[in-house]
Amino acid sequence: MLEKQNLLGLPQSKLNKFFEDLGEKPYRTKQIMQWIYHQGASNFDEMHNLSKDLRQKLLTIATLELPNVVTQNHASDGVIKWVIELGENNHIETVYIPEKDRGTLCISSQVGCALACTFCSTGFQGFNRNLKSHEIIAQVLIAHNYLVAKGKRISNVVFMGMGEPMLNEGAVYDTCDLLLDDWAFGLSRRRVTISSSGVVPALYRMADTTSVSLAISLHAPDDELRDVLVPINKKYPIKQLMEACQYYLDAGTQERHILFEYVMLDGVNDSEVHARKLAKLLQGVSAKVNLIPFNPFPETQYKTSKAVTINQFQDILFKSGIRTTTRRTRGEDVDAACGQLAGKVQDKSRRNVRRH
Ligand code: SAH
Ligand code: SF4
Repeated sequence: MLEKQNLLGLPQSKLNKFFEDLGEKPYRTKQIMQWIYHQGASNFDEMHNLSKDLRQKLLTIATLELPNVVTQNHASDGVIKWVIELGENNHIETVYIPEKDRGTLCISSQVGCALACTFCSTGFQGFNRNLKSHEIIAQVLIAHNYLVAKGKRISNVVFMGMGEPMLNEGAVYDTCDLLLDDWAFGLSRRRVTISSSGVVPALYRMADTTSVSLAISLHAPDDELRDVLVPINKKYPIKQLMEACQYYLDAGTQERHILFEYVMLDGVNDSEVHARKLAKLLQGVSAKVNLIPFNPFPETQYKTSKAVTINQFQDILFKSGIRTTTRRTRGEDVDAACGQLAGKVQDKSRRNVRRH
């Protein structure tokens, strides 16, 4: 039997094609999107403005299935972490971070990550597979359905969970499409952010394909150190990365800027010299820097920079005219902080075999 098409995760253009192939009128797309994304419908039966015949047909060829939630943990600071099961003993994690004026959902794009940044828990897990667009949008729907019932909402979505979004471009662009579409989540482009460790060729395509915001995981101001912390730097060194960033900034019709993420590792990348080098690298670039205090996890040797060191680092950037913020660590008591997302990954990259 043919596998049923999961209609979640199909952007408007692909749903149009789906209904066209069924010989249905184009307005079916908007009807069904409203049911799914605005009314929270989880089956075709409740969609009473679709004809009975169409509902029957959809039941046989399509599905709206969401993956199973294994656990939903609440941290003392309001952060919520969902562990979601994706078959074959793979689990991913999704995190909601409430703040005074917004609620950010941090979503995963892959089961694990093949890029093996040395300070990242996901990287340590190895890699299993890319998520499908319906598995990515399902994370937003699961959180949205829960939060709406509590009178809360998701105002921002960031691809900062497990995985490298720019190694799963198709599914990530389809998801972005739905996040921005008024018939689905209707978020503004400034409130959706793709975070990438610097897959340079994909960044050029991203600049031309979607209007969402970009964050770059820089973490070091020179190639020698970045080669160690973010190994993909060996393939796409900083000069190439900054050229791709400039291309992103110049593309598109609206003004853009880039958020550069910089994890603060005690005695590794947090000296005054590093700060000055970073300021020089970003001079003239439409950039904001976000310093992330390192979040430890069991397998790591790294330590978090001292608060005073982070302040000094931030001060040097400030004085060079670079807008800089320091991220407040959230959700620690449920292991939901940046870089702590581990899920459960059936590693196919054999990295863990190679390492020992
Ligand atoms: N793969 C993408 C997105 C996921 S990681 C990327 O690398 O950008 C999201 C952010 O968390 C990245 O900036 C990443 O460098 C950071 N991060 C990873 N491990 C961390 C840790 N242990 N402590 C703090 N931040 C971490
Ligand atoms: Fe992958 Fe990002 Fe973690 Fe690096 S920091 S291993 S790119 S998830």
